[in-house]
Amino acid sequence: MSEPAQETTPTPLTLQSPLTALAGIGPAVARRFSRLGITRAGDLLHHIPLRYEREAAEGGVDTLVADTPGTVRGTVVWCRWVPAMRRGGKGRFEATLEDHAGRTLSLTWFNMRFLADRIHPGSIIRVQGKPTRRQDYFQMVNPRWEDLSEAPQAQPTSEGLHPIYPATESLTSRVIELRIAEALPSLIDQVNDPLPEAVRRACALPELRWAVERLHRPESEEQAAEARRRLAFDELLMMQLGIALKRHDSRTRRRAPALRWSDALDRHIRGRFPFPLTDGQNQVIQALIEDLQQTRPMNRLIQGDVGSGKTVVALYAMLMAVASDHQAVMMAPTQILAEQHFLSISTMLDGSRVRLGLISGGNTVAEKRRRAAMLEQLRDGELDMVVGTQALAQENVVFKSPAVVVIDEQHRFGVLQRGKLRRSGESRDHEDRSRTSFSPHYLVMTATPIPRSLSLTLFGDLDLSTLKGMPPGRTPVTTRVLPLHRREEVYDYLIQRLDQGDRAYVVLPTIEDSDDVDAPPLRTVSAHAAWLKERYGDRPDIELLHGRIKTDERKAVMERFRQGRTRLLVATTIIEVGVDVPEATMMVVEHAERFGLSQLHQLRGRIGRGPSPRRNVCVFLAEPNNPQAEQRMEAIGRHHDGFRLAEKDLEIRGMGDFFGTRQSGMPPLKVAQLPRQLDLLQMAGREARAIVNRDPKLRHIEHRHLRELLIEVYGQTLSLIDIG
Ligand code: ADP
Ligand code: MG
Repeated sequence: MSEPAQETTPTPLTLQSPLTALAGIGPAVARRFSRLGITRAGDLLHHIPLRYEREAAEGGVDTLVADTPGTVRGTVVWCRWVPAMRRGGKGRFEATLEDHAGRTLSLTWFNMRFLADRIHPGSIIRVQGKPTRRQDYFQMVNPRWEDLSEAPQAQPTSEGLHPIYPATESLTSRVIELRIAEALPSLIDQVNDPLPEAVRRACALPELRWAVERLHRPESEEQAAEARRRLAFDELLMMQLGIALKRHDSRTRRRAPALRWSDALDRHIRGRFPFPLTDGQNQVIQALIEDLQQTRPMNRLIQGDVGSGKTVVALYAMLMAVASDHQAVMMAPTQILAEQHFLSISTMLDGSRVRLGLISGGNTVAEKRRRAAMLEQLRDGELDMVVGTQALAQENVVFKSPAVVVIDEQHRFGVLQRGKLRRSGESRDHEDRSRTSFSPHYLVMTATPIPRSLSLTLFGDLDLSTLKGMPPGRTPVTTRVLPLHRREEVYDYLIQRLDQGDRAYVVLPTIEDSDDVDAPPLRTVSAHAAWLKERYGDRPDIELLHGRIKTDERKAVMERFRQGRTRLLVATTIIEVGVDVPEATMMVVEHAERFGLSQLHQLRGRIGRGPSPRRNVCVFLAEPNNPQAEQRMEAIGRHHDGFRLAEKDLEIRGMGDFFGTRQSGMPPLKVAQLPRQLDLLQMAGREARAIVNRDPKLRHIEHRHLRELLIEVYGQTLSLIDIG
């Protein structure tokens, strides 16, 4: 037994050390750092500069050259705030700085009233900017400045690139820069490069230590860019490894029932459809047939524009399950859509032996009883096929033998809630992770085309099929984006069309007034209905539809609309997906600037669904109040192709909105920029798949740092790497 280490030996600084282990950082400063998410010494290394600025070496006023960046330190000898001369004009803060030799520099900042509270005669500050020569003195306008009053001994700045860090009021970028520069030498040797040497070379990336150092202290812009590229690659690789591991897991450890297929079955299934399938539908079905005959669970995403005919494609897969004596389930995002699928599927299956059920919502005693009875039949295998909402997955519904699960209209980006379906007899508990386990085949459908760059990332564990083309009989929709003052004109036209027998939707963002007093007033469904009534009288052919209406009543409203007894539905976005009434030819969307681009496209897809001789008209009433909303309105008015719109959407919003959020289940991207660095993403994807193919558990010695990092990033969600 050796003696315990002497008390006086300083604990060596590690990446895990608390910040207070660093010289000069006490609890108060550490708290300021923690507001930036920096709590351990190692976090300093991952604090990514926003940009870099070239600074001139600090000197006296006499070293300044007109129109060339310069840096001067001095004492403020005079200052004042000059208010704006007229309303809407600019006020300015003026100051005179005196350097160590008594030479003065005149300073002016426009509009920065707060400077009057921060800079006083006697303040010691350092300013950087391009001086302009006045008659006999130099002036700087809007220079960068730092207060050195509390640190008059601060080192003069050196010439070169300085990182500008995300900072806070109480912790300036300069202080962060100093702390990182101090900590770097003792920490850098502890940084382990997770990339196997071969991968690093193949991708022409620098070593991690070099990259971390150059990130914080680049000698040139090129070095900084190369350093960032390396760190961006690591981020993307982590993301892609997460996906590759999940995919590997589902491909190797899960077993699904292999479904039977034959020409006779094919003819039989097609015989159920009231129309011949389009080429696009046949292509996708071909892929499904191949997938479903395997014991490897299918995980396929079908993207096809609104109205492209995804439902029958899904039904084909579901009928394959039933033909093999298994069950199939279709989950829709809303109750209305579930009801509609149920309706159209039961029409197609009319007279067949398939036992189809609708799991409906509702909270009345009768509704609950009906639901419980359905679930029981499902468990006992007395139903072959059910349609319900996505709640089915969350509620751990038990199936006798589920083989095909269809998730319809999964068009919100984020985690795919594929949920977890159980077979009767299977326990709820953790499955045994070392054995293969059961999984049904999954088919996910979306009408929001996913730009390729995204599908690679978010949906990388899914195979992708694109349903091209449209069934015959669709008619084009004329789109108008109009300002609010044309509202009355729009509704006069709408009512006229109702009187001629047309059917139409009006869509509003909300049901009732928001409690949020700051929010600008939005037209609500009820207020809007009242307005229509006042203007056009009490018309029995106008009805409301929204989520607060009871399930049965909602069904009745939809049915009356389908039959044409009701001609106008004033609705919330409840009709956004899937509602399919071919006779509807006109739509008005109120507050269109409030909606996302894909949502507007979805909404518009509700009309023009039939071979109507009438012109389809979609009006977006909008008052765009920011540039993004303006761009959205521009795009929706101009483009009718969902793929084009999805790309536009990405352009407008940037990739950041799509993922990297907590609920996407992905680590956030701090350095990588998408879609700009698509090439890097693809490279990371390739390497990730190669690594996982070679070493699925990441047990090789060369992968040990990679494995540690993955566990750190994903925690327990990557179940496969925490065993063995
Ligand atoms: P989505 O892809 O938006 O889910 P649907 O499956 O609801 O589209 O189909 C839209 C409409 O087109 C439905 O009325 C459907 O019956 C019809 N349809 C689908 N396939 C065909 C086809 N091959 N020929 C004619 N009509 C079709
Ligand atoms: Mg659909």
